[in-house]
Formats: sequence, C-alpha cells, structure tokens
Amino acid sequence: RAKENGKNTFQFFNSELNEVMTRKVDLETELRKALELNQMTLAYQSKVELHTGKVTGMEVLLRWNHPILGFISPAEFIPVAEETGQIRKLGEWVLRTACKQNKHWHDNGYPNLSVSVNVSVGQLEHCTFTETVKEILDQTGLEPKFLDLEITESVMKNITEITGTLHQLREMGVTISIDDFGTGYSSLHILKELPIDTIKIDKSFIDGVTDSTSLSMVKTIIDMGINLNLNVVAEGIEEEHQARILSEHQCGFGQGYWFLKPTDSEKFEVYLKNDREGKIN
Ligand code: C2E
Ligand code: MG
Ligand code: MG
Ligand code: MG
Repeated sequence: RAKENGKNTFQFFNSELNEVMTRKVDLETELRKALELNQMTLAYQSKVELHTGKVTGMEVLLRWNHPILGFISPAEFIPVAEETGQIRKLGEWVLRTACKQNKHWHDNGYPNLSVSVNVSVGQLEHCTFTETVKEILDQTGLEPKFLDLEITESVMKNITEITGTLHQLREMGVTISIDDFGTGYSSLHILKELPIDTIKIDKSFIDGVTDSTSLSMVKTIIDMGINLNLNVVAEGIEEEHQARILSEHQCGFGQGYWFLKPTDSEKFEVYLKNDREGKIN
C-alpha cells in the first residue's frame, strides 16, 4: 500500500512543505511593513515579589496583529525576523517603545518599576547594540537601572563575543536576565561566564513543581541562584499553589497568568492602580 501510494505521499509532503514555505515568505514580506503600518504593539506582564505579592517589574512582549493573517505569535515570527535580519529594527522599536512607556509611568505617579525587554542574540552580537541602548535611554530619559535585558540561553553559541557587550551594558547600569533558564545545553557554563543579575527558571520546570523530581530541580536552581547572589524569577506560574510552593522555597520573584496575563498598556495601568496588594502574601 505504501508503494502504491508512494507518489501521492510524496505530493502530499511536497504540498505541505510548500505551505510552510509560502507562510514563511508571507511573514517575511509582511513583517517588513508591519511597523510602518502600526500592526505591532507591546503587551505587558507583571513581575511579582513572591513573599509580598508586590509588583516589582514588568516584561514586555511583542504582539503582531495582521489585518488578514490575524494574530501571529512571536514564537512564529521572531525566528523569521532573526533569520532575515529584521530583528534589529524590530528590536530597536520594542526597546524604544518600552523605555518611553516606562518613563511615562515613572513620571505620572506610578511606582518606579523596571522593564524587561527580550533581546535576540542577533541584536546583541551587532557592534552598535550598546550604543543603540545608550541612545534610547538618553532619548527617553529612563534611568538605566530600570531597564533589564532578557537573553535566552538556548540560542547562545558564541559566549565570548557576547560577554564583552554584557559587561558594557552593566557598566551603563542596565541589568541582565537569563531567560528560559535550564533549557539550554550549557546553563552552568553560561552562569559562570556571563555577567548577569537574574535567572528566569523556564516554565517547563514550574509546570511540574508539584512532582518531586521537578521540585528538586527547581529547589536546586533557586539555591544556586541565591548562592551566586542572583535574583531568581519563576516563569509561567498559572496556579496559586505553584506560587506558594515557590515562595516557600525562597524563590524571590514570579511571573505568570496567575498574577496577570500579558496585557496592553491601558489595562496594565489599571492593574497597577488596582492590584497593588497582589495576589499572595
Ligand atoms: P519569553 O520571553 O520566555 O516570554 C514568556 C512567554 O510565556 C510569553 O509568550 C508569555 O506570554 C508566556 N506566558 C507568561 N506567563 C504564562 C503562563 O502563566 N502560562 C503560559 N502558558 N504562558 C505564559 P509570548 O508572548 O508568546 O512570547 C514567546 C517568546 O517570544 C518569548 O518567550 C520571547 O522569547 C519571544 N519574544 C516575545 N517578544 C519578544 C521581543 O520583543 N523580542 C524578542 N527578541 N523576542 C520576543
Ligand atoms: Mg522573556
Ligand atoms: Mg525568551
Ligand atoms: Mg522565558
């Protein structure tokens, strides 16, 4: 039967591949116009101090709403932007918009929170990255200590190259977080080599924090973070009991739907005004 259908099977795969390719080409083309056409926005998610429930910061997440293609996930379009080199322009827009918005909140009676921005390795590796960050901070007036850059460890290949850049950024006062910690091949190596302030434990470990293996690993990561004088953030907390367990094990901070789903700036403002007491003690 396989033999008989051989040709059709081939055509099936071929057309499926074709669809994937077409989608990619579409995204690539549409991505080039997305900023000019105002299709990009930022979503904000709070970062919360677990033992007080106090909001201490926020992460910005890029959102693309295309009039025909609809909502496209960053998990899909960020890799396309990285491959095609568009991530630099896009990333610069994210940084500028995030810093401007955060400065606006600082100037308008909101608590002085820090803003975390995801940065792709392709941005970091570019020779003008530090200057770009400095320029954006100067232009927006945001104090460097209120800007945090999140770098995903799983995509780092050339650590030596990145190390110098991170040192320059930290000298400016900007802080550095390692995102999705635990998912890369060389988490410990990265911890040892890179000048960082925070580790963000990947959601996959937090999901299973009630089973004993995951919990042991999470405890180990938390303890290591504490011993290395780093802030530890748990990503993707969806349930109260996860927040409680993490807090009991001295995890400093948490993020996730349990506290707040990423939301637009208007709703985030309302959240900052109303939800100051937080959800757990
Ligand atoms: P990330 O930086 O690890 O961000 C966390 C992701 O988990 C976000 O997905 C967020 O919406 C989601 N999340 C937060 N809390 C929960 C939770 O409790 N449950 C679940 N199921 N999910 C939760 P999102 O917004 O789709 O972003 C996916 C990834 O795309 C990000 O992962 C980040 O690596 C990348 N990304 C997003 N915005 C940017 C950007 O501006 N620049 C770059 N370079 N990458 C970005
Ligand atoms: Mg992140
Ligand atoms: Mg990430
Ligand atoms: Mg993450």
